Amino acid sequence: MSSTLEKMTSEDLIKMEEKYGAHNYHPLPVVLAKGDGVHVWDVEGKQYYDFLSAYSAVNQGHCHPHIVGALKKQAETLTLTSRAFYNDTLGPFEKFVTELFGFDKVLAMNSGAEAVETAIKICRKYAYEKKNIPENQAKIIVCDGNFHGRTTTIISFSNDETARKNFGPYTPGFVSIPYNDTEALEKALKEENVAGFLVEPIQGEAGVFVPDEGYLTKARELCKENGVLFMADEVQTGIARTGELLAVDHENVKPDIIILGKAISGGVYPVSAVLADDEVMNVIKPGQHGSTFGGNPLAAKVAIAALEVIKDEKLAENAQYLGEIFRREMNRIIDKTGLVTKVRGKGMLNAVLINDSPDSSTAWDICMALKENGLIAKPTHGNIIRFAPPLVMTEDQLMDCVSIIEKTLTEFKK
Ligand SMILES: *Cc1c(COP(=O)(O)O)cnc(C)c1O
Repeated sequence: MSSTLEKMTSEDLIKMEEKYGAHNYHPLPVVLAKGDGVHVWDVEGKQYYDFLSAYSAVNQGHCHPHIVGALKKQAETLTLTSRAFYNDTLGPFEKFVTELFGFDKVLAMNSGAEAVETAIKICRKYAYEKKNIPENQAKIIVCDGNFHGRTTTIISFSNDETARKNFGPYTPGFVSIPYNDTEALEKALKEENVAGFLVEPIQGEAGVFVPDEGYLTKARELCKENGVLFMADEVQTGIARTGELLAVDHENVKPDIIILGKAISGGVYPVSAVLADDEVMNVIKPGQHGSTFGGNPLAAKVAIAALEVIKDEKLAENAQYLGEIFRREMNRIIDKTGLVTKVRGKGMLNAVLINDSPDSSTAWDICMALKENGLIAKPTHGNIIRFAPPLVMTEDQLMDCVSIIEKTLTEFKK
């Protein structure tokens, strides 16, 4: 059939999505057809450096052969049993993941949002059954500017109007406090019936807000003192992105609950997971939570392979090393042009702040110019551009990217 059809161009494919797909995203106009490591290619064959990594889901690089190999092998063996029966892949995955992260138990789901929902349910149940909080009164503290996904409960405690407007009525039971503010946390923890504190170790979607050193340590201590579960959403910051396996590792903090997603799959197949020790995880009994696809054989094999790549290729160390170079180089460029005011981040989760109002199109226009020069990235919150390439990048490739960014910013005209 396809032999009689002309090959579709980027423009055709964009029009097709426009016509047949819901308009729930506003993509940069580039149509990708292939990926390998740090590179992607569009339909016309133009090569780009990927500086988004699917929101940090492809930390291991596009189409990593070890992960794709695991997927292929398992796909020809057994794909889905549901949890109505045991299978020979889930147990080994659970053992591998809990040993790697140092928790007693794991609960596997598919998307990041589902894992956040899982954590919320565990936290509430723990509050009612172990802390005797009166029924339906449990409160979870969250932070202003949070991003934890798109379900109705999760958007109920977002303060991003675009994400929540006209999706009410909203789920009650959440209290929002300023991020990076331990005094606000201390005060909120004194309220009645607080069950948990849900926090991103670095706020990714909000524009890569790195909290002050010691924030996570202090927050962890305060939660412990008040008998409140400390839940770290590491969906974006985890799996080596910030220069450690988990972002909380920078402060040697052990949360009560860790939420993982995105790169635990290497960007190959959706996998998410919630980790906790027995005391907490054991509140979940048969029939109380689940997912048809959660922890299926493909997911289990893909996740093990994805985590093996992180370890074998020392991607956390590489992210740490390259991140220092990247921020140093960005600061050098900032000193040369008035276009960027600041670079911030940790490891290879970074952002630059554009010297213009959040309502201006400057960040978008810069991303369009970067695209022309062979590097794709996306603005977040108006005038911020996030830079998060795959962690398999070499130093030479990074320096090549730095010259693309430098050239783009010096030649850019508003
Ligand atoms: C992306 C993200 C989520 C949601 O993950 P999905 O797989 O898109 O549902 C949750 N929390 C954080 C911090 C994220 O970055």
